[in-house]
Amino acid sequence: MKPLKLVIVGAVAGGATAAARARRLDERAEIVLFERGDYISFANCGLPYYVGETIRDRDQLLVTTPQALTKRYRIEVRTATEVLAIDRAGKRLQVKNLKDGSSYQEHYDKLILSPGAEPLRPAVARTDLEGIFSLRNIPDTDRIKAFVDREQPRSAVVVGGGYIGLEMVENLVKRGIQVAVIEMAGQVMAPLDPEMAALAHSHLVENGVQLKLNTGVSGFSRTGGQIIVQTSDGNELACDMVLLAVGVRPESALAVTAGLDVGERGGILTDAAMRTSDPSIFAVGDAVEVKDFVSGHPVMIPLAGPANKQGRIAADNALGRASCYRGTQGTSIVKLFNLSVATTGLNEKTVQHAEIPYLTSYTDGQSHSSYYPGSELMMLKLLYSPADGTLLGAQIVGGKGVDKRIDVLATAIRGRMTVFDLEELELAYAPPFSSAKDPVNVAGFHAVNILKGDVRCVHWHELHDFTPETTVLVDVREADELEKDGEIPGAFNIPIDELRERITSLDRRRTYILICLAGLRSYVACRIFAANGLDCYSLSGGYGLWKHVMKNDAVSA
Ligand code: FAD
Repeated sequence: MKPLKLVIVGAVAGGATAAARARRLDERAEIVLFERGDYISFANCGLPYYVGETIRDRDQLLVTTPQALTKRYRIEVRTATEVLAIDRAGKRLQVKNLKDGSSYQEHYDKLILSPGAEPLRPAVARTDLEGIFSLRNIPDTDRIKAFVDREQPRSAVVVGGGYIGLEMVENLVKRGIQVAVIEMAGQVMAPLDPEMAALAHSHLVENGVQLKLNTGVSGFSRTGGQIIVQTSDGNELACDMVLLAVGVRPESALAVTAGLDVGERGGILTDAAMRTSDPSIFAVGDAVEVKDFVSGHPVMIPLAGPANKQGRIAADNALGRASCYRGTQGTSIVKLFNLSVATTGLNEKTVQHAEIPYLTSYTDGQSHSSYYPGSELMMLKLLYSPADGTLLGAQIVGGKGVDKRIDVLATAIRGRMTVFDLEELELAYAPPFSSAKDPVNVAGFHAVNILKGDVRCVHWHELHDFTPETTVLVDVREADELEKDGEIPGAFNIPIDELRERITSLDRRRTYILICLAGLRSYVACRIFAANGLDCYSLSGGYGLWKHVMKNDAVSA
């Protein structure tokens, strides 16, 4: 039988993975990999850290080379070669060699598209000025790094507070540059809920970053060697360089022109086998629309992990092995200076959009036993079903140890686990690594307490629903903590250890909202109040979360 000819368009995350997988499955197949750029399989995710000089050796960004891929996998790699069109009826591609300008046709039996997504540019004047950059690939990185090395800019504006923008913020600051972030939304990091993003805002500001939220860019100009960034609030910011990081758009033009089905946001539509509306063509990565693993809704989630997995699955199916992609849950993590910001599954915006009933709870935790030196705090938010406690999403912001907790929770969501399961998870413990009750277990305990009615919670944005005439705020922290950390205006202080003695003097007709730093002592206090027949709630996330949200003018309930 004639060997199958598999052609792949795009040779980075999804495409290179598909090619290598295909060779492992079929030693005889003819595999051709087209890449428009000069580099294949480079580490997109490492690019900001090369600009910041955490990664010093540029070669480290090149995960493999065309020569190495050909030698190991006998794949024909054609770089600087753009696929211009697909003739589906004739199963032929129109191809252009970008080095010499020549064009030719290439036949395929099966085709996998992994063309990725391109950075959006705001539709305003003069985004083409010198000193304005966007970041997708190695040439972009070389341009930015060369500019920073040569010009030694003192100030930069990053437009867009998504993960690429924020990673660049950290790395530009590391290069001694004063950075301002302009973000159209009221928060950075859209996958986070606003109160969790508030923790990131505080940290960015503490690290000297100027944050302009709820602000768009209306144009750019150049004066006296500087770039002037005009903003939607009528102000101007002068700076030495600009990074545009306002999101990406799927590179689906090739698919659209070929008449393949695409979704509302332009992503190529595929089935669970990653097969497009043409049975001989598969598509993967940032260019495809996927199913949200939790809600089942169509989504565009441009991340490296899903692109790699889809590449493998498309290769399986292209070569006749049944393999299924069950959806993307958007598990992601970003390093912001000393903070890690991580999410998985749905957030409040997406759960509401999907009209799924949900409850939320907040708990704080230490990366490892607090008595062992070096532990760091994290704030953990869960979203779960009120009916049976099924996990819907999780967000964690904190120091060390955020990565492992988000991965446990991502795994739990994949396994359709509930908050009851989180209580039971037996996770590795010794003092340098965790606590006997891991923050994931504690998040489960608290959510289960809420589900079982052991405690009723109010959230930071619900405080104003309670009228002062009938409601009393009681802060159960020690007096010196209030003095040091601050307090919610109007709250009375009764330290938790004095509660049992003082509770009889409290007005039994009132509702009490109990407050502590993170919600643990206020839960204990709630149990004491409830046992004494008082109507009470615990402030979820405590004063700690409330303080960050209130500090942040831009975050509104
Ligand atoms: P890509 O990796 O973008 O590859 C597509 C390739 O196709 C491109 O090289 C393009 O030149 C080529 N191509 C397009 N059209 C054609 C054509 N017609 N002919 C020939 N070639 C073509 N994700 C994470 O999960 N974690 C991170 O920390 C992270 N950090 C990132 C940091 C940066 C700066 C960037 C840019 C991305 C980051 N990502 C991260 C996202 C991740 O890199 C992408 O989700 C992933 O690379 C998508 O893989 P892909 O194969 O769909 O597209």
